[in-house]
Amino acid sequence: MKQSKTYCVKGVGDHVKCPWCKGLSIRYGLNKAKKQRFRCKLCCKTFLINYTNQAYRNSTNTKIINHLKESCGISSISRLIHVSKQTVLTRILKMAKHLKRPPVTFGMTYEIDEQHTYIQNKETGEIWITYAFCRETKRVVDFIVGDRTKMTMKTVIDFVLLSNPIKVYTDGLGNYKSLIPKFLHSTRRRATNHIERQNLKNRTDLKRLGRSTICYSKSAALLSACLRIYFWG
Ligand SMILES: [Zn+2]
Repeated sequence: MKQSKTYCVKGVGDHVKCPWCKGLSIRYGLNKAKKQRFRCKLCCKTFLINYTNQAYRNSTNTKIINHLKESCGISSISRLIHVSKQTVLTRILKMAKHLKRPPVTFGMTYEIDEQHTYIQNKETGEIWITYAFCRETKRVVDFIVGDRTKMTMKTVIDFVLLSNPIKVYTDGLGNYKSLIPKFLHSTRRRATNHIERQNLKNRTDLKRLGRSTICYSKSAALLSACLRIYFWG
């Protein structure tokens, strides 16, 4: 009772406006840290006046995306925007889940390639990112994180084939020959120059894809989520 007296100043609720709808708010008990909560009479959302962490702000998600694309790891983002590491992680996974790939355009030229990286460490965590790059739109249309087997690569190739491509260029890897029809497929020398350049760009822009580093992703799901945000966010 003593604590509630300290925080529940008489009449405070009358002057506090809801941060979302600017409606009138009333006092609504204390939170675990014994801070006064408020509840909006109009939209019924609850809020505090001063939050300890800044994750509640609307700009947090945009900041996380921007920092992620500028080669920042989870810890650096956490330090830069004053949000806990766990929150950064949760937000990345949540945002990636809601991102949609760009709409399919028919009759385009595609290049498909695999990029090599690791999960956790170099000894046990070898992993490949197989992805398709559209020459005309200069965008990544689909990707998958996994091993370099036909089964894994098939999902990306099937997606490209469904969009009725003019030509699909790949390197000389044997898996492609059985997955892509001969009349569409080409392994011509220097035909994959665009996607090779994109490979370099990925390594420069995403810290976790660096070659000599100790900052590899902790899990394939997190790597996949970061790539989703980087390509389509
Ligand atoms: Zn409100």
